[in-house]
Amino acid sequence: MRALRYHGPRRPLQLEDVPAPEAGPREVVVKVAAAGLCHTDLHFVSGLLDLGVAPLTLGHEMVGRIVAVGAGVPAARIGERVVLYYYAGCGTCRSCLAGEENLCASLRAEHGFITDGGFAERVRAPARNAVPLPASVSDAAAAPIGCAVTTAVHAAALARVGLGDTVVVMGAGAVGFGLVQVARLRGARVVAVGRSPEKLAKARELGADETVQAGPEDVPTRLRALTGGRGADVVFELVATRETMGWSLAALGKGGRLVFVGYSEDDLRVHPIQLVVGEQVITASMGCTLAELRQSVELVASGRVRTVVDREVPLERFQEAVDALGAGRLVGRAVLLP
Ligand SMILES: [Zn+2]
Ligand SMILES: [Zn+2]
Repeated sequence: MRALRYHGPRRPLQLEDVPAPEAGPREVVVKVAAAGLCHTDLHFVSGLLDLGVAPLTLGHEMVGRIVAVGAGVPAARIGERVVLYYYAGCGTCRSCLAGEENLCASLRAEHGFITDGGFAERVRAPARNAVPLPASVSDAAAAPIGCAVTTAVHAAALARVGLGDTVVVMGAGAVGFGLVQVARLRGARVVAVGRSPEKLAKARELGADETVQAGPEDVPTRLRALTGGRGADVVFELVATRETMGWSLAALGKGGRLVFVGYSEDDLRVHPIQLVVGEQVITASMGCTLAELRQSVELVASGRVRTVVDREVPLERFQEAVDALGAGRLVGRAVLLP
């Protein structure tokens, strides 16, 4: 079968023929219908994220149909449309027992990170990771659920976004669009910050109360004004360059929580006095739990959260999607179709 293979940092992704996977005990094989391209995939190629596993099929936003089941999985599941959860924890550590497989220190698999993922015709995964997808959501529209929506759901829960909070979403990409909607659902007032007028228009369409365009507008001044001088309760950092981290820290109010979701080559620099006098918290959010993937599927299937797909691209034209994402030209996800 065809698969898009990663061969290590700073080496080009390559479309190759690899053996098709077979389902082991308690596993399924899914014929991939759509797989979203995430910034994390670019971090692999640039070398910023290097987990030391290569060659590897990337792709952790995966949607498809079950075409084979292993021992212990009901044959009735063949034909089911599913979204795949990309972590497979050890099942016995403290994190796994708490349902936090995303923090498992002994992962059995992490699809698209250390285990083959969805940029291929087929992918093999534990049957419990295959979450049924209602017919109301198309394959392409469902692709961003697996990371863009789940990351937003997890980060918003971790930050305890609540009624009346003012939330700043620093970065208007696919995860940012998820956060705008999830923060609104949790009762917050949302300010989205970005550079592109098209992305900010999309953020407003999805429910952002205010938007700030970096470049023409002075971001710290505008954010202070929009929060009545008080600062934000929660800032989600999806870009994390030195410049945006400065804005995020400046926008944070007393008791505020700064949550890192994205990262770049840049280090965070902050003087502790700012944190001390404001009792501010800097934290980070990674991935999601299986329960949060189920919540995310439900949110999208019921229409309460919308995914944003900029374009659908056949797998063999992956470079077009990689280039557009790298250049910041995508409003939402590029979804690869194997
Ligand atoms: Zn991702
Ligand atoms: Zn574990």
